Amino acid sequence: MRKEENTGSVPRIVVLGGGESGTGAAVLAKVKGFDVFLSDKGTIAEKHVETLTKWGIPFEQGRHTESLILSADEVIKSPGIPSDAPMVKKIAEAGIGIISEIEFAGRYDTARKICVTGSNGKTTTTSLIYHLLQQAGLDVGLGGNIGKSYAYQVATERHDIYVLEISSFQLDDTYDFKADIAVITNITPDHLDRYGHDLENYVKAKFRITRNMNSEDCFIFCSDDEITVSHLNKIVIKAKMLPFTQKHEVEEGAFLDGDKMRVRYGESECEMFINELALGGRHNVYNSMAAAIAGKVMDIDNEVIRRGLSSFQPVEHRLEKVLSVGGVLYINDSKATNVDAAWYALECQTRPVVWIVGGTDKGNDYSVLLDLAKEKVKAMICMGLDNRKFHESFEGIVPEIHDVTSAEEAVKMAHDIAESGDVVLLSPCCASFDLFRNYEDRGKKFKEAVRKL
Ligand code: ADP
Repeated sequence: MRKEENTGSVPRIVVLGGGESGTGAAVLAKVKGFDVFLSDKGTIAEKHVETLTKWGIPFEQGRHTESLILSADEVIKSPGIPSDAPMVKKIAEAGIGIISEIEFAGRYDTARKICVTGSNGKTTTTSLIYHLLQQAGLDVGLGGNIGKSYAYQVATERHDIYVLEISSFQLDDTYDFKADIAVITNITPDHLDRYGHDLENYVKAKFRITRNMNSEDCFIFCSDDEITVSHLNKIVIKAKMLPFTQKHEVEEGAFLDGDKMRVRYGESECEMFINELALGGRHNVYNSMAAAIAGKVMDIDNEVIRRGLSSFQPVEHRLEKVLSVGGVLYINDSKATNVDAAWYALECQTRPVVWIVGGTDKGNDYSVLLDLAKEKVKAMICMGLDNRKFHESFEGIVPEIHDVTSAEEAVKMAHDIAESGDVVLLSPCCASFDLFRNYEDRGKKFKEAVRKL
């Protein structure tokens, strides 16, 4: 229920979680005149405390005070909090509506919205689209899971267009939110612990990005992705369907034609040589295709699309070339926190690979990596507290497997093993929380160690 429609006293909005998303939502609620309160059971980072204080927003941390929370007319739940958290259950039992920050911000934003979700490639594709629109001179904001939250931007800035990266957790509590252009990059099993270990629930969460779209809107998707396609066979989407594929020609959308990619929208076509794309690897051809389709829908000139896709600077921690030391190239792909991302990282390597893997296992099945590992990997370095599964899966496939417990040790060992012409690839297949704060921390420590060689 949208309580701001009520007459009488000022409606109360309670925000659960004081991270980037929750703090942004609280600021927007304040700007819109609600009685706002933010509650975080953990510790709120200093920069968010400063923002809340600056905007005069009351908050608590280290606890959830029920009386202050259950008096809400509506609750905005941060994406990191699962729906079965005890406080969330109590809110639902009390009949209080729970929405996400994206839903809330969408109510106050009339800009055109290009929204990107998927299991892998969200940040890259969102950033590519943003870059294309900027190159075209459009007034565009970038947000969602990247940089500043969407709600904070809606509260403090105005743009004609937003390009938003939206995770499935952020989509979970959306109802009326509508994208004008929606992109699903791909769907592979991930985060299933938050979806009752049921792939169907995860797929449905991703497809919420197409909710409320009508025939004037566009849906961009990978028609080579089996999970996406099988779900599309079960549902009706009113938006114009624009597939991208590396397997066959399409009338509208994007496809490969020899060493070129072709992008068709309406009567217009844009073509570009694959080797002119700024980002290497087969996965980035997909990401570039998705971005180019969005560019065509936004009526951007072919020349600007080509220039944009060839001038884009890689995003940190995604197949990022760090340094060459003694003829050995070090690549930081710390964001490869699942098997699929690591598959693409290995697939595009043309030199022998010393592969640094490991971390918190999310129920990974490494069997899909065995062929590539056999073909390309000369040594594996497992950087994690529990490396048993790597040993079990790759022994007999990869000539040597070693264990380390820090990025520095991993880099030193890689340096000892690698010879001129090799690649040292950090593409860990796992989350980082056993040894690092997050994947950024892992990537930064890897890069620091490489620079010290
Ligand atoms: P996300 O935001 O969805 O996590 P990123 O763009 O940050 O995606 O990339 C995460 C990881 O996945 C990186 O290791 C990257 O190289 C890899 N990756 C990027 N695009 C794709 C894709 N289309 N398919 C598979 N893996 C990808």
